[in-house]
Amino acid sequence: MYKLLPILLLVGCGSGVHIDSQLQPLVNDYLEHCGGNLDSLISIKLSPLKSEVAGVCTTYGQDRTVTINSNLLSMFQGDDYRTMVKAVLYHELSHCLIGADHVEGGLMSVYAHSPQEYRNNWQAWITELGCK
Ligand SMILES: [Zn+2]
Repeated sequence: MYKLLPILLLVGCGSGVHIDSQLQPLVNDYLEHCGGNLDSLISIKLSPLKSEVAGVCTTYGQDRTVTINSNLLSMFQGDDYRTMVKAVLYHELSHCLIGADHVEGGLMSVYAHSPQEYRNNWQAWITELGCK
């Protein structure tokens, strides 16, 4: 019984945020580089969206949900896919967690860039956002 206690405590203290396991490393990366906290988020998931939408940050009162379009996998492969998911996740988390608005160009552009453009400009664009 004694050994069970720490496990029960961990479960009891877990936050209510549900994060897709594929996205978890990228979310950790975001928090490390950009700050913010997950207190006001209820979930971060990969789910089908209309093809022209890469991702969304939805707000229900105080709770926010970040959804990344799972159809990105049929549009991009390998490194390009990973780059796009990371770029879209950073964009949406910036809306949801640090209240960033759209700007022309860069990571907070309304329109997505090519994977190559994201890779070439990554450091400059996250610095623009106040990330390190
Ligand atoms: Zn946006």
